Amino acid sequence: SGMPRIRMFARPVPVSVGPMLRELKKECDTPVPVLRRVAEAMAADMRAGLAVDGGSDLKMILSYVHSLPTGDEKGLFYALDLGGTNFRVLRVQLGGKDDRVIATEFEQVTIPQELMFGTSEELFDFIALKLTNFAANEGGKFHLSSGRMREIGFTFSFPVRQTSIDSGILIKWTKGFAVSGTAGKDVVACLNEAMVRRGLDMRVSALVNDTVGTLAGARYWDDDVMVAVILGTGTNACYVERTDAIPKLNGHAPSSGTTIINTEWGAFSTGLPLTEFDRDMDAASINPGEQIYEKTISGMYLGEIVRRVLVKMSKDGELFGRQSPEKLHTPFTLRTPDLCKMQNDSSSDLLAVGAVLYDVAGIESEVGAREVVVDICDTIARRGGRLAGAGIVGILQKMEEDSSGLIFGKRTVVAMDGGLYENYTQYRDYLHEAVADLLGPELCRNVVIEHSKDGSGIGAALLAASNSKYDHDF
Ligand code: BGC
Ligand code: MG
Repeated sequence: SGMPRIRMFARPVPVSVGPMLRELKKECDTPVPVLRRVAEAMAADMRAGLAVDGGSDLKMILSYVHSLPTGDEKGLFYALDLGGTNFRVLRVQLGGKDDRVIATEFEQVTIPQELMFGTSEELFDFIALKLTNFAANEGGKFHLSSGRMREIGFTFSFPVRQTSIDSGILIKWTKGFAVSGTAGKDVVACLNEAMVRRGLDMRVSALVNDTVGTLAGARYWDDDVMVAVILGTGTNACYVERTDAIPKLNGHAPSSGTTIINTEWGAFSTGLPLTEFDRDMDAASINPGEQIYEKTISGMYLGEIVRRVLVKMSKDGELFGRQSPEKLHTPFTLRTPDLCKMQNDSSSDLLAVGAVLYDVAGIESEVGAREVVVDICDTIARRGGRLAGAGIVGILQKMEEDSSGLIFGKRTVVAMDGGLYENYTQYRDYLHEAVADLLGPELCRNVVIEHSKDGSGIGAALLAASNSKYDHDF
């Protein structure tokens, strides 16, 4: 309401942009029937992946985590987290039911770009070096019981075929990693070898995906946590499954009756509304044909999709007039945090949008064009957030069907982590909106999506504790 915005000197956006924008919005549209089909396909693909290995896009990986933290865990434990842009090391002193987390300390390092394209030895040597330095600074707040070795919960956020709780073979890299010589190898053995090269005497007691670490970390504080989702650089979900719903266990079911399944839902691909920009991005990626859901909804890719739209609209629609913004042609120059910044610009001239376009690609823009850019960001973020919400509903519905009412009939918590969910407000709102659209107010009442920030580190340490190879001398 109020005063009309007066745009002095502003050229109108070329008419050719309008139809292109409408076409994009149409192709990215996610009305409830589309979301419903995605949720149903997610549930169906989950079942197919549980029936037999290779039965579906979803690997439905057995985590070998059959019980979640109880609160009784005690002692000093380490965690290593390798997964996206950052690498973290952490130590935590666990004090049992009453004291819980007595002390914790962590260090975070950005993974040097060249290590993402180097050799397996180089990557694991880097990890072992950081771990050695970190372990050397163990202060007085921390106490290792006598006779015990330092144990590590290793969060490794890539698809791993687990062979036990403390071993697993890397199936493939994702999220832009292209390290040679790791795929097909036991990643714990890779780490152990690097630790031996460094003379570091620690042992990995649990190898877990980041979703599994997040689930364990969140369950430590809240018994109703049943699902964990990561929406960051990449995306994935895990959940508590009943062993009698896992045919591929072939009678090797643990006595607990439940186990954690790492869905690897990033590989999901059924029924997604995709555009030429998605297809081109996939074709140009280092893993074409793979991780299609991840490429549609996760942080590594949203900026890149928008960049591709902008390239086309500036070329074929003269969105930025006669400029041909060379820098805009470099893949991944526009990042998801940039989209977020632009969507949160509340200045009337969209100054922040102008600044991002200028900084990222040297583009001089007018208000009309900036509005179009924000609209494109919103279109891609909305599609991503809503499809992520549909995936969550798919998992909940699958669990509900196999547990006759134990999901929606009581409080059920979805633990959520990742920078995309945490920082991109609009994306997060769209996700919540889709969950509400699909479940309706009745079922929605019992579903809680809870941000569990950096829970996977503590979670991995907790799983190292419950899978400790040493006698608990307490
Ligand atoms: C990996 C998953 C991981 C997710 C979130 C995906 O690319 O395949 O294993 O959980 O990213 O980090
Ligand atoms: Mg992570």
